[in-house]
Amino acid sequence: MAARTDQTTDPELLEGLLQARRGTAFFARKLNELSDQDLDGDSLLPGWTRRHVTAHIGYNARAIARLVEWAGTGVETPMYASTSVRDHEIDFGATLSPIALRNLFDHSAVHLNVEWRDLPEDAWHHKVKTVQGRTVPAEETVWMRTREVWVHAVDLNNGATFTDIPAPVLSRLLKDIAGAWHTRGTDTGLLIKVTGTELTFGDTGADAPLVISGTLADVVRWATGRGISGVTAEQNGTVLPEVPAAPNWI
Ligand code: ZN
Repeated sequence: MAARTDQTTDPELLEGLLQARRGTAFFARKLNELSDQDLDGDSLLPGWTRRHVTAHIGYNARAIARLVEWAGTGVETPMYASTSVRDHEIDFGATLSPIALRNLFDHSAVHLNVEWRDLPEDAWHHKVKTVQGRTVPAEETVWMRTREVWVHAVDLNNGATFTDIPAPVLSRLLKDIAGAWHTRGTDTGLLIKVTGTELTFGDTGADAPLVISGTLADVVRWATGRGISGVTAEQNGTVLPEVPAAPNWI
């Protein structure tokens, strides 16, 4: 019989699951605030309507659920057959009727939650592969989903902001983004400082770095390529008249 509570007892993982569930609830709230007509409107992502964002979040839950199933059964089930299959799926999903689109979001979120809930304690350590080809323990699926639901809730472009995202989610996101830049070598000479904290990311060894600073929410927004407001750029003690765009994240 399926359990009604999580099988894992790992406190860190349970905390992570809580952030993922809160993020899903937050996305659901912002989606519910949109009328069927509003769904046709622009999201914050170039070329994507709110329909695309909603379809993406729905199919993302299904893709992540496939990884959790893989961890549970040992039978390899990739997130997507390919990135082009994923993109076609989103384009198709964006054409669904509003009710079908809302059902896609609801049902896929419930399904993923059941997969997480019923995954046995030791299966959380089983290795799966992400669409980028990274091999990760099943635990990582929780974070993969967390950042999607929180950031794309902002992308729905109906009032959610980065200040709505919990600080632990924002700092982990910034760490991820800075890590991606570092791997690609695009962070040379770039130093990110979160005001009011000790948090520093980027090229910490640079001689005269370009320093980007702001609150955690503003800096993360800038780092994800979603706006420069509240962010200051400084070099050799001089504030630059324009804040440069962040290096690409994805
Ligand atoms: Zn996404």
